Amino acid sequence: MSFKSLGLSDALLKAISKKGYTTPSPIQQKAIPKILERKDVLASAQTGTGKTAGFALPILQILSEEKTLHNRPIRSLILTPTRELAAQVLQDFKDYGEFTDLRSTVVFGGVGANPQIRTLRQGVDILVATPGRLLDLHSQRALSLAKVEVLVLDEADRMLDMGFLRDIKKILALIPAKRQNLLFSATFSKEIKQLANGFLHHPVMVEATPENTTAEKVDQLVYKTNKGLKTELVIKLISEGDWKQVLIFTRTKHGANRLSEKLSKSGITSAAIHGNKSQGARTKALAGFKAGKVRVLVATDIAARGLDIPLLPHVINYELPNIAEDYVHRIGRTGRAGASGEAISIVSVDENEYVRAIEKLLGERLQSEVIEGFEPTESLKEILDKKAENKQQNQRGRDNSRNSHKTKGSNNFQRSRRK
Ligand code: AMP
Repeated sequence: MSFKSLGLSDALLKAISKKGYTTPSPIQQKAIPKILERKDVLASAQTGTGKTAGFALPILQILSEEKTLHNRPIRSLILTPTRELAAQVLQDFKDYGEFTDLRSTVVFGGVGANPQIRTLRQGVDILVATPGRLLDLHSQRALSLAKVEVLVLDEADRMLDMGFLRDIKKILALIPAKRQNLLFSATFSKEIKQLANGFLHHPVMVEATPENTTAEKVDQLVYKTNKGLKTELVIKLISEGDWKQVLIFTRTKHGANRLSEKLSKSGITSAAIHGNKSQGARTKALAGFKAGKVRVLVATDIAARGLDIPLLPHVINYELPNIAEDYVHRIGRTGRAGASGEAISIVSVDENEYVRAIEKLLGERLQSEVIEGFEPTESLKEILDKKAENKQQNQRGRDNSRNSHKTKGSNNFQRSRRK
């Protein structure tokens, strides 16, 4: 099947061929004709399936077929959970829309609002936004959503995970009731189904891959080891395999920083990306990684969501996520757009229950191996005892510092009394 046979205009076909795409991906083949028919669509697709072009191309086509009003009201609104995804989606709209007259922009938090307000004032046809900043700007009357015709909720499952349901409901109330709705989600929980039932009208369901299964091209492997050996094992795998571009997931922001520092110390260039980093730092880390200057990007789940890193050969789970669906998202970063990839999980005994939950979700067993010198010898009890001990130590540390503040405080008080 060709892009032309999907009914796309010459302007879009030109941009598509400039991007080097020859064949529409399965989600594009299914979603584009339905969206062009102005149907509501409920799409099951994770990052890496070509889902963004799956909605961006038909939206560009629909809007460019309509007359542009001189004040250019926002006619399509795309909501995304993270800033990175918003920036990426905008870039896709710009690339695919290069040969149309349509204007698009993005608004998200963490950066100054004034440049965004200035761009909005000039009029845009397509707005990509994260929910919080969109509502802020709306309450400042910097934008109007009264003319929105096509609404997209991208990565809707993650938006709900991040607690955006209330914001989404507020936004829905600001948009005309008569509109086309498109909902994209990698997983379909009860909550997503509820949300979909609430605002989609007779949606057409499209699926990129069967629900909750991973791309076959990803080789998945578990290495069992001790907690304390994980960093050393990661260093060994990256250096001996001479891996050039590796995305590593940790469960916590601290963990991401710590691992990134240790990798850098051992001579593997690395950067951490998580919610405590400024937008500028995250963009810089990602750019360095994409350009091949940074060999390893260590990320938390939320920060990694929606990152567009094509042809990523290696993903490592330094720790497994406690939500099995997050594993599917994580390994969706590899083996993308036809390339093969490898997803490795480094697992200590306390994570065995996560392995079982993931296997249940995938409906298959994960192959598990042990590397010589890194044999798992710890028992669950040892890990739990160690955790309890660390917790106690931290608590003692906090108590001590509180007491020393108190002492200092009372000294000051005495001093001031003596004066
Ligand atoms: P997405 O799932 O939208 O994040 O897209 C994943 C990657 O696939 C991006 O790097 C796109 O540029 C690329 N892509 C999208 N559609 C196609 C296509 N039809 N052929 C080849 N690559 C594509």
